[in-house]
Amino acid sequence: MIGSLSPARRTRDLAAVAGGAVDVVVVGGGVTGAGVALDAASRGLSVLLCERTDLAAGTSRWSSKLVHGGLRYLAHGELGLARESARERAVLMGATAPHLVRPLPFLVPDAAGRDVTALAELGGRLGDAVRFSVPGGRRSLPPTRRVGAADVGRLVAGVRPGGGGVVFWDGQLVDDARLVVALARTAAAHGARVLTGATVTAVDGADVHVTTDDRPFTVRAGAVVNAAGVWAQRLAPGIRLVPSRGSHVVVPGVRLGSPSAALTVPLPGSRSRYVFALPQPDGLVYLGLTDEPVEGAVPDDDATPADAEVAQLLDTVNRVLAEPLTRADLVGAYAGYRPLVLPGAAAPGGATADLSRRHLLAWDGPVLSVVGGKLTTYRAMAEEAVDAVVARLGRGAARSVTARLALVGAAPRVALDRLGAPPRLVARYGTEAPAVEALGPAPVVAGRPETVGELRFAVRHEGARTVADLLDRRTRIGLVPADRERAVPVAEQVLAEG
Ligand SMILES: Cc1cc2nc3c(=O)[nH]c(=O)nc-3n(C[C@H](O)[C@H](O)[C@H](O)COP(=O)(O)OP(=O)(O)OC[C@H]3O[C@@H](n4cnc5c(N)ncnc54)[C@H](O)[C@@H]3O)c2cc1C
Repeated sequence: MIGSLSPARRTRDLAAVAGGAVDVVVVGGGVTGAGVALDAASRGLSVLLCERTDLAAGTSRWSSKLVHGGLRYLAHGELGLARESARERAVLMGATAPHLVRPLPFLVPDAAGRDVTALAELGGRLGDAVRFSVPGGRRSLPPTRRVGAADVGRLVAGVRPGGGGVVFWDGQLVDDARLVVALARTAAAHGARVLTGATVTAVDGADVHVTTDDRPFTVRAGAVVNAAGVWAQRLAPGIRLVPSRGSHVVVPGVRLGSPSAALTVPLPGSRSRYVFALPQPDGLVYLGLTDEPVEGAVPDDDATPADAEVAQLLDTVNRVLAEPLTRADLVGAYAGYRPLVLPGAAAPGGATADLSRRHLLAWDGPVLSVVGGKLTTYRAMAEEAVDAVVARLGRGAARSVTARLALVGAAPRVALDRLGAPPRLVARYGTEAPAVEALGPAPVVAGRPETVGELRFAVRHEGARTVADLLDRRTRIGLVPADRERAVPVAEQVLAEG
């Protein structure tokens, strides 16, 4: 299996790097760190990626799972940022991960107000113009259009009947954590060593100190890329972040009439912030999202949505629903910390904080911190970071190749359609779906689509080592706690099989 993160490979990688030397140590196995590892490895640099818990253990699995063209940036007049987002969306959908990203219609119903839909139509058309201006953008999505009452009922049956609306299109990831796993495995296929359960505790000149479940070790590095997200300040105390919490709740799709579009309702009083009811391939709907400042240091543990955030999400979407949602409808909830860079942050070491792009790239000695940005733009951030590393080391190819580098499982849509494996597995594993199917089609828990084969594949090829790796990251059964409880014995059994 290409780039397999098997238990045997982990043992080999650990033995190879402990006490050894690499060009780059990447700290953090979220989308940013995995993207940096891939960019660096594919330019010929030797790479060690250290992730303290598991791939996608941090913010990267708590997103809204949108690969978006930056409509909100347009609302703030940030055309450059919107173009970058649209370009990266086209790269993911057209070249690097067509299996993981699907086009998703967004419905803004007239029930939210005619002024709201008029603005959405304008924004959507501007977004289309930006999309047309980037390579591969033109054919990637259908255009924005007004729709009648019948279409509204067809797209989101739960909306109060009678009015029309506006539909615009964007990209949706089947699962954000799967993008991170695909990136890490593709990096491994290019020679990167990927260690989960490996915490970087200190950087002392060229010496990088790492603790693992097995033993501590030191590795010498030409450069260290700090992609530790909201925890990046621990290795680079000079950078300043203002994290905020974003929350979602999980409801059964049937409560909104099993929608095929993302219902989009503006937050009262805002022209650029929306609550989305995002249909998922497994029949659930994620309702998000909030933006709450976080005081003090960010804890290691997962965030939880506050009561007021849950109320805000339900109240906003209920404005347009025929039958309002209540707390009794919730089957789960999740929250994550956004790694936001403080405006005006004075980065150490004469570095630049490019705040218009909302990410920070800052050298401090041998450590380059790359923090902020969006999941959608991870590749562009990684490219910029590795450009800086290559310039400093004087080694590695000067130009990134990742805009054309297909991730494991990726193939053109026509080839994916011909695979003959269940469409759900193709959407999550691409060309590897038949191999996953062959490992066992039995459901992990009755009434859910995940298979035992997916758990086995995760242990054998995707670096999963614990029940949480299996249920909270390689699959997302954990988003519904009652289902997770039922799945634990199966996950334990698969781990015991090895
Ligand atoms: C609620 C919410 C919704 C969002 N929705 C979207 C969206 O729909 N689309 C979009 O494009 N963006 C979205 N974003 C933004 C996006 O999710 C983040 O920008 C992105 O995931 C950040 O990734 P990261 O790799 O930088 O950080 P993380 O994913 O947090 O990764 C950092 C990793 O570093 C590890 N780590 C920390 N310290 C150490 C150490 N010392 N040693 C080793 N490892 C360490 C952590 O365990 C973690 O896994 C959303 C964000 C939030 C909060």
